[in-house]
Amino acid sequence: MRRFEDDFARYCGARHGVGVGNGLDALRLILEGHGIGPDDEVIVPAHTFIATWLSVTAVGAMPVPVDADEKTMNIDSERVERSITPRTRAIIAVHLYGQPAPMDKLRALADHHGLFLLEDAAQAHGARWRGARVGGLGDAAAFSFYPGKNLGALGDAGMVVCNDAELAARIRRLRNYGAEEKYHHDCIGGNSRLDELQAAFLNEKLRVLDGWNGRRRVCAAIYEDALRDIPGLLLPMVGSGALPVWHQYVIRVEQRDALADWLERNDIGHGIHYPMPPHLSPAYRDHYQGFDLPVSEALAASVLSLPMGPHLGIEQQRRVIDAMLGFIAHV
Ligand SMILES: *Cc1c(COP(=O)(O)O)cnc(C)c1O
Repeated sequence: MRRFEDDFARYCGARHGVGVGNGLDALRLILEGHGIGPDDEVIVPAHTFIATWLSVTAVGAMPVPVDADEKTMNIDSERVERSITPRTRAIIAVHLYGQPAPMDKLRALADHHGLFLLEDAAQAHGARWRGARVGGLGDAAAFSFYPGKNLGALGDAGMVVCNDAELAARIRRLRNYGAEEKYHHDCIGGNSRLDELQAAFLNEKLRVLDGWNGRRRVCAAIYEDALRDIPGLLLPMVGSGALPVWHQYVIRVEQRDALADWLERNDIGHGIHYPMPPHLSPAYRDHYQGFDLPVSEALAASVLSLPMGPHLGIEQQRRVIDAMLGFIAHV
């Protein structure tokens, strides 16, 4: 496991890698390792997978949602500052769908307000921001190697990546019963191991990650080319400085549910990431009455993910494109 920790950290351009059980644990252990807890606030994107929020709640802190940027669907950096209060301790930058968040603006805000900048890179292994790979851009980063991610294990796995040796050592203890050395329990920890078998498997797959991300880029370019002139269809937009790895290829369309039905009937796989923002979900809605997050709510109603992956063949992609053109002709 040590080898995969070192190799993956190096791949990200960071000094330390600490393998853990899954991506949610990676996020949670970073927050805990940094000492974030009750009475603290953490800025999160309103439009993200709920795990981002759950990590904050798990350490007893309060997720403070910031609306999405209409173009990139990532956190709107222009709106972050007005959500900062004296209790704010950290910002979680999610590289959603594989596209890096606007890290230079978030870094400047974090520095100006003395905040910790955490990357949720669960969807973005290998993505680049101004030439540098994600994972080495913030104060620490959380990765998931869940099977469906760009770098996926055969089961659950995750990793914390950072440059701070002390933070890495604290997280090593927290993931291992509070002990760095066997039976020397320095703090109250838990058990969140990265399985050795998964680590060995991931190390093999790490060698082909860039090639597979390249395949995803080709698929994205083919969609872009075939679908860009269709009225009523909004294709993904890439912010300047971002080199995405297309974890998902997410389009926006007003008649989303009708399109989803159409694809279903034509036997074309698709997904909706995500149908409900965390602040409207039963898990959180009682605490977020009156929050105004119109972009995120509109995204939840209009996003649709087309088939995407390194093994998606040109014939399969042709079928998806034909079905899309068929839908447009039909409505
Ligand atoms: C998958 C994912 C996680 C959680 O990772 P798990 O390994 O499933 O716990 C966290 N954040 C984002 C953005 C994800 O996509």
